[in-house]
Amino acid sequence: MAILKVARMGHPVLRQKCTAIAPEMIQGPEVQRLIRDMYETMAEYAGVGLAAPQVHQPVRLVIAGGEADRQGRQKFRVLINPEITVRPGAEPFGMYEGCLSVPGLRGWVERPDRVNVRAYDETGKQVDFDLDGFPAVVMQHECDHLDGVLYVDRIEDRTRFAFEEEANRYLDLEDEDEDEE
Ligand code: ZN
Repeated sequence: MAILKVARMGHPVLRQKCTAIAPEMIQGPEVQRLIRDMYETMAEYAGVGLAAPQVHQPVRLVIAGGEADRQGRQKFRVLINPEITVRPGAEPFGMYEGCLSVPGLRGWVERPDRVNVRAYDETGKQVDFDLDGFPAVVMQHECDHLDGVLYVDRIEDRTRFAFEEEANRYLDLEDEDEDEE
């Protein structure tokens, strides 16, 4: 296992469209090692999610959290080649987002609060599930990375884009303000 270097905004790997992973490669050693290393990297930086391009691998793989398991512990999902669709009845869900690739900053972004996700999991099985609220937002943030999109591209009101310390002092942050994706 290894803690990987996280690419920061400005590195071209964060701006490219990532390539799909062939399903038969998922159980292979390369993809499995990437998943383990991404978990370790995300834990090191206390992230709530991480996308492969953030560790310089432009492939369609994300780890996304924000959900709780039955014991109330944070649950993470590994998703390969994810497809997100907004579900009927979705409302805007706004929060100050952060990103391990944009360290030290927070920006207000609104995204739909109900999505459906179809993907392969880390064993190569096809999965199809719904997410609501915060985990839905985390998933959209991570999947944006696979298309070279950063949350800063989605900030509409630039007055709500700030350094963390100033955001904590002057802006109305929510409880999740320590999460970076
Ligand atoms: Zn991010």
